[in-house]
Amino acid sequence: MKYIIDKDKLFLEVTNENIESIINSTKRIIKKCDKNNLELVINYNDKNINESKINDLKMIQTAINIKDKEKRYNYIYDTVCNILDKRINEENYCEFENDVCIRFRKENPNHKNGCCEWKGRGKCKYLIKSECTMKSCMACKLFTCSFLYKTKKIRQKVDDYVLLKYFFNRNQKYILECSFWTPKEIVMKRLINNSMKPKE
Ligand code: SF4
Ligand code: SF4
Repeated sequence: MKYIIDKDKLFLEVTNENIESIINSTKRIIKKCDKNNLELVINYNDKNINESKINDLKMIQTAINIKDKEKRYNYIYDTVCNILDKRINEENYCEFENDVCIRFRKENPNHKNGCCEWKGRGKCKYLIKSECTMKSCMACKLFTCSFLYKTKKIRQKVDDYVLLKYFFNRNQKYILECSFWTPKEIVMKRLINNSMKPKE
């Protein structure tokens, strides 16, 4: 990856050929910019760059240029939650009908509320009148059950999302994936407490 540092900025020239390798080098760029307090500046020198890659790189650039750790994590958390909400709304993969999801229509039609209600754990206290009143639990949004994978090949992992893949270490990814039914404020505290630098 070639870059130029001038004063307090790190400049990257991006083309369709190098954008993938630049995204794969995100951890190096974070390290360089954070260590030297550099602003990341990106020039796109090619009209044919894949649009979704540009979106990924723009999110990476925004996160890198937020120097306060808590604010950076906030941006990442909210941005990824929005992406996950958009996917759920567009694809409607759980296909709820009268509060019963596609999996339980097949396995146990008396089970309402999908994974917001679970044997031994009861119903999540944030589910009121069939609606999630918390709206910000990333682990719930990320979760896709084995039934969805078997029947529709739908599976989501933290590493599917560049902001989670490159900005968090293994412990933090575990927290993001497993903090079900948990408000954002609590997850944010856990992320900050586990915020050793991600390994290259
Ligand atoms: S992830 Fe699976 S169990 Fe949970 S609501 Fe969707 S289909 Fe139902
Ligand atoms: S927090 Fe999670 S489990 Fe609780 S209502 Fe919302 S989506 Fe369902």
